[in-house]
Amino acid sequence: MAKPRTLSGIQPSGELHLGNYLGAIKNWVAEQERYENFFCIVDQHAITVPQDPELLRERTRSLFALYLACGLSLEHCVLFVQSHVPAHTELAWLFTTITPMNWAERMIQYKEKKEKQGEETSVGLFSYPILQAADILLYQPKYVPVGEDQRQHIELCRDIARRFNDRFGEVFVIPEALIRPQGARIMSLTDGTRKMSKSDPSDFSRIHLLDDPDTIRKKIQKCKTDSIRGIAFDDPARPEAHNLLTIYMLTSGKSKEEVAAECAEMGWGQFKPLLADSIIATLEPIQKRYRELSSDPDYLHGLMRENAAKARAVAEQTLQKARDAMGFLPP
Ligand code: ATP
Ligand code: MG
Repeated sequence: MAKPRTLSGIQPSGELHLGNYLGAIKNWVAEQERYENFFCIVDQHAITVPQDPELLRERTRSLFALYLACGLSLEHCVLFVQSHVPAHTELAWLFTTITPMNWAERMIQYKEKKEKQGEETSVGLFSYPILQAADILLYQPKYVPVGEDQRQHIELCRDIARRFNDRFGEVFVIPEALIRPQGARIMSLTDGTRKMSKSDPSDFSRIHLLDDPDTIRKKIQKCKTDSIRGIAFDDPARPEAHNLLTIYMLTSGKSKEEVAAECAEMGWGQFKPLLADSIIATLEPIQKRYRELSSDPDYLHGLMRENAAKARAVAEQTLQKARDAMGFLPP
């Protein structure tokens, strides 16, 4: 029997951080054999906020290498760049015509990013979740493995798919969000109530997957904590303690109970070096593979092209069904 499909993606809008890894990629890697996976680099989403063109190119290449370095295997996954598959933007246009304004206006991420962009807020930032719905639905996936912050966007995607199917006949599979409870929301190192983000202006708010050991130690040394002795999970008054313990748990591979017992009596001075070591040990093999892969850009470029062709073949089929259903005349 065919394996169920998954699709997910990451924007090359900044450097990949522990939140992206623990909330998304690590789970993709762990479960890749169970599914037929499509993972894209959503460069057309990145441009919904200003991007430097040369940096965007560099980050797109780097993210492709990082997908592989983190352990995604081309035996189980198609890894591709969104802008290499033109069907995404065409289907997004079709969807904009069936999505009520007020569905898009409700999106929390739009409201938050709009605050930062002010007068510069683009129409693209507003319609971003509709493009995301097209990214997903083109591949007819059963599951969309993401972090908690994407739950609302996946809900919108489902609504768009249902509305399309109701109006024009069954074209799209209705996908489900796959959100793993642990690590689904890694918080900023400078504020335990805000999520770790690529777009946070402060580098000290996050650990990058490519940070060297000294930088990681420095960031952990400076990260926000509290003045209570003994470090515990699940205390709403101590969001930083919960977040740092979660990162320790997920990078060390220990269970929640083990970590809770180990750290119950610890002070921050004792815990922080332990946490830094655990993060460094997790990232070291990824960084090593990343350096090896990056030394052969032609090889990476070849893989990118092959995979884009595989993605286009699947996406083009679905797009053609959608065009037919909506009443476009074939050329
Ligand atoms: P940006 O700030 O540019 O939106 P981002 O850090 O939110 O960047 P995305 O590319 O938007 O990263 O998201 C990629 C994936 O990483 C998504 O599945 C998202 O749910 C997940 N993710 C992002 N931030 C976190 C986080 N802090 N904790 C867990 N998962 C996260
Ligand atoms: Mg985001």
